[in-house]
Amino acid sequence: MTAKSGRGPPKNPLKRLAGYIYKERWLVIVAVAVMVAGSFALAFAPKMAGNLIDVLTQYVRDGYTGLDMGAFVIMILEIAALYVFGNCATMLSNRNMTIVSRNATQRMRRNLHNKLNRVPISFLDSHPSGDISSRLTNDLSTVESLIESDLLNLIVQILLIVLIAIMMVVVNPLLAVVYIVLMPVSFLLIRYITKKTKKGFKLQQSTVGDLNGFMGDIIGNHALVKSYNMEEVSERRFSEINRRFHRAYVRSKFASGFIMPVTLIINNLGYICISIFGAYMIIDGTLSLGGFTAFLLYGQMLGGPLQSASSSMNQVQSGFAAVDRLFEILDVEEEPDESDLAKLDVSRVEGRVAFDSVTFGYVPEKTLFRDVSFEADPGSVVAIVGPSGAGKTTIINLLMRFYEINDGRILVDGENTREINRDELRKAFGMVLQDSWVFDGTIADNIAYGKEGATREEIVQAARTVGCDTFIDVLPDGYDTHISEENSQLSVGEKQLLVLARAVLADPRILILDEATSNMDTRTEALVTKAMERMMEGRTTFIIAHRLFTIRNADKIIFMKDGDIKEVGSHDELMELDGLYADMYRSMSSS
Ligand code: ADP
Repeated sequence: MTAKSGRGPPKNPLKRLAGYIYKERWLVIVAVAVMVAGSFALAFAPKMAGNLIDVLTQYVRDGYTGLDMGAFVIMILEIAALYVFGNCATMLSNRNMTIVSRNATQRMRRNLHNKLNRVPISFLDSHPSGDISSRLTNDLSTVESLIESDLLNLIVQILLIVLIAIMMVVVNPLLAVVYIVLMPVSFLLIRYITKKTKKGFKLQQSTVGDLNGFMGDIIGNHALVKSYNMEEVSERRFSEINRRFHRAYVRSKFASGFIMPVTLIINNLGYICISIFGAYMIIDGTLSLGGFTAFLLYGQMLGGPLQSASSSMNQVQSGFAAVDRLFEILDVEEEPDESDLAKLDVSRVEGRVAFDSVTFGYVPEKTLFRDVSFEADPGSVVAIVGPSGAGKTTIINLLMRFYEINDGRILVDGENTREINRDELRKAFGMVLQDSWVFDGTIADNIAYGKEGATREEIVQAARTVGCDTFIDVLPDGYDTHISEENSQLSVGEKQLLVLARAVLADPRILILDEATSNMDTRTEALVTKAMERMMEGRTTFIIAHRLFTIRNADKIIFMKDGDIKEVGSHDELMELDGLYADMYRSMSSS
């Protein structure tokens, strides 16, 4: 049952998204159909307008006779209808796509949350929580807008560009060629100018950065600046940066004022070229006035889709990147299903724990534990000590099967933990960590987390056992006081007591206490220590402690260093041994 490595080949993000919008496929199909029809309408309208003008010119040429009024009005209505439909199509399809994207992202969000409950701890350990939460918020909303508009926009804009180009060729191939030659030239020219002016903006931005940084330093260290009599120096530096900022600002303003007129001139030059050619063709008789008008309309129309296609392209690209990041989470291999493994009768666990020749490394190329063995008798207190990085936390990670060992066995009551259902096994343990974890809810909820369906009496009893009833009782809402991680009226020590009450309620046979009394005032610490001592009675307890005098009474002290057990024994034995533990103990008591 080793973890399988190597994921399947990266799948096409479009295909995977398709899975999420499949349920609303009809909404999507209708939206796409409407958008495509709208694009055809918009692309066809200028040609119709050209035809209308040709009919009018013919009417004037014929001495104001021979106009079929009915047909003429119908033509006008048709053109109006094309424009109205073309422009309303977006509205119609937007409505559909908003529904689709909202539902799809909701499904994705649900899957992501479920997934995060099933991924192995190693995944969470190797990804900063900020990274994961940013994926759940930013990336998800990027994907939402990808489905809602970006993707469809890109497709429609490209379709429009193609349709307009085709219509230009239909109206007049020669003029179309002239336009197609001119287009890239002006496009490149404009790109060149914008790029030049961007430099000015960048410079302005970086000087603003300098200015802010400097201000931050000076204001933040106001007293220091004064105490060193550095006011004059800092004033001089400030003036210098300020002057630089001023120059950059003027430069970028000038440049940005420049872009618009230049773009206009270039565009107009293009128009003039087309007009000269067009006028020549009209006189020549190869182009009608209506055809020429239609052509100019197409020319004007093309700019829009060209511009929005290029910005949609960027959005679609970042959207696909976000899809990849989300599916990276969804693709993480889950902890294997162990429902067929033996259950552990938690109430009958005695609490005998043993490491038997355990070998383990977080990464294959670096073995941390090699042949580590030790035993803890039921109800005994085992302290794990040693310098940081020695592997103390790793022992806990392995006991709880947060990580799987490479070789050897870990036994609980003589049973190999590999053969016990992971979730059941964890029920046998109670953990109180340095950062006491409370969640959004009432105090009663927070304590009840330790036991499914706990009654209020049990909750109050647990609180009493650890002695946190005293501060809960004076709260206005008592056990129904709402607390959360960010905003709780509780001190670190009080939170710690809550977590202890939670553990008491769960009543595990094996306890894990991780430096649980640091960051506390002495009074609370005394309370917490007393509560812990009471909890430890009759339970096998592992304590990870830095301050050695707190674990002097432990039945067994395991001194670790560099992933290895160096010394084992009671405090007195280890002091007599006069080894690493004794050194550490003496250096601590003298400081
Ligand atoms: P301690 O608790 O004694 O300070 P740890 O058990 O946390 O030590 O760490 C032991 C060694 O394993 C350290 O070198 C640490 O860098 C490494 N380590 C701890 N956690 C991980 C992890 N999730 N992935 C890779 N290496 C880790």
